[in-house]
Amino acid sequence: MADFHLISQQLKEQLAALPKTGSIQKAGRVKTVNDGVVLIEGLADVVMGELIYLGKDKYALALNLEEKQVGAILLSGENEVAAGDIAYATHRVASVPVGEDVLGRVIDPLGNPLDGGRNIRAKGYRNLEAPAPTIWQRTKVDSPLETGIKAIDSIVPIGKGQRELIIGDRQTGKTALAVDAIINQKGKNVVCVYVAIGQKISTVRKLIDDLTAHDAMRYTVVVSATAAESAPLQYLAPYTGTAIAEDFMYRGKDALIIYDDLSKHAVAYRTISLLLRRPSGREAYPGDIFYLHSRLLERSAHLSPALGGGSLTALPIIETLSGDIAAYVPTNVISITDGQIYLESELFHAGVRPAINVGLSVSRVGSAAQTKAIKRLSGKIRLDLAHYREMQLFARFGADLDAGTKAVLARGERLTESLKQPRYQPVSMEDMAVELFVMTNDLLRSVPAKEVPSFVGELLTYMHQTQDATMRKIRKAQDFDQEDETVVRQAVERLLNK
Ligand code: ATP
Ligand code: MG
Repeated sequence: MADFHLISQQLKEQLAALPKTGSIQKAGRVKTVNDGVVLIEGLADVVMGELIYLGKDKYALALNLEEKQVGAILLSGENEVAAGDIAYATHRVASVPVGEDVLGRVIDPLGNPLDGGRNIRAKGYRNLEAPAPTIWQRTKVDSPLETGIKAIDSIVPIGKGQRELIIGDRQTGKTALAVDAIINQKGKNVVCVYVAIGQKISTVRKLIDDLTAHDAMRYTVVVSATAAESAPLQYLAPYTGTAIAEDFMYRGKDALIIYDDLSKHAVAYRTISLLLRRPSGREAYPGDIFYLHSRLLERSAHLSPALGGGSLTALPIIETLSGDIAAYVPTNVISITDGQIYLESELFHAGVRPAINVGLSVSRVGSAAQTKAIKRLSGKIRLDLAHYREMQLFARFGADLDAGTKAVLARGERLTESLKQPRYQPVSMEDMAVELFVMTNDLLRSVPAKEVPSFVGELLTYMHQTQDATMRKIRKAQDFDQEDETVVRQAVERLLNK
């Protein structure tokens, strides 16, 4: 009898030592499925952002943790999941393949190829969500990210590691700016990630064709969740793009990411939140809409030299309605970013393209990163243009204008012409320096405003053909000295007196 007692005692002890949570407890059941959002009952111990397995390659991502149920977004098999299906916790968070092999590819937010090519050969995986670099892991923004767009590099310069918002109504050239910035990175060792959120399939297709035609896909990844995809996939796309770009940054490289656009991203998130029955606030957005974008954009940074000195520059895009930058999502994103480039329909239709409203556009950190040459030469432009706009108002009244006012108007008109730039024609740093020097010193007073662009074109051709050494020197020194000034002045005179 005593032996039995001992055995049962030992058994009890052994049972008590076993882990209390067996895998069986970690299964639940799908209660409802609605537009890509599932509610699951009976699934305990799930963490935020955890992958939930729904059988046969079907996964969902946990977003809502409540006492009795888990709200999750479906990542695949939207039409194959039904109420009553069994759901298992996986203890894994969502991740995507990263590394050089993704360059040149078009992928969905889960890392699956959309370009008909082979699967990505992952060098590794990175979690979609990752904490932003800390204060001590960062250093200040100090080198320029050249967009090759005259108006941007001279007036609202962008530095590597900066977040600069592109904001404007529909059809104002927002995407065009981003595409030109990507095209200009050719040969500059900057990896580009373009994230398309909620756009038309045809628009994304056109963009990929444009990038390919300008030989820019070699260093670019396109992450696409078009309007045809579910809200959950659109919601994930920017995090996927960031994970891919971040991998390059943490390996000491420079990366540029474009989120086109975060307005549609906010709408996708609102849809998910409403389906998850979260309480909604202003404009029916959930309360954490600010956090949605801040945790995304805070991941852009210039890392300290100790961490390899890599950088991630972000150009988020926001679409406004009738120029309303005070709406909820635009104000949020404006406050998170380091400045904004404001595009205006009126300017766009008046033929001022890129349609940048210089008065409302700012860059809070970029000027520290400008090259010496551009910084010095562009100092006065903003003021000149502001002055010009002011005088334009007077001129509209038909008042008699004095010589001083006429000069301001003439200068402004020429400057405006000079800052116009067709698509797909990014300008090199040395060309920009020469043009800025000519414009800010008002050397083209005698050239009619409309002829300024063609004159500048002629001047640059002449400079490259006859003064190549000067042009190369400017490029190399990133500076524009007195000697260069003399050379350019002489060239202008020569062409004017031709
Ligand atoms: P959406 O709101 O539809 O996304 P968007 O603001 O991104 O529009 P784009 O698609 O970039 O605007 O441009 C709208 C149109 O304007 C396009 O046809 C484009 O080719 C043209 N465009 C943009 N920038 C320029 C430019 N600098 N010069 C000439 N045309 C331009
Ligand atoms: Mg666009």
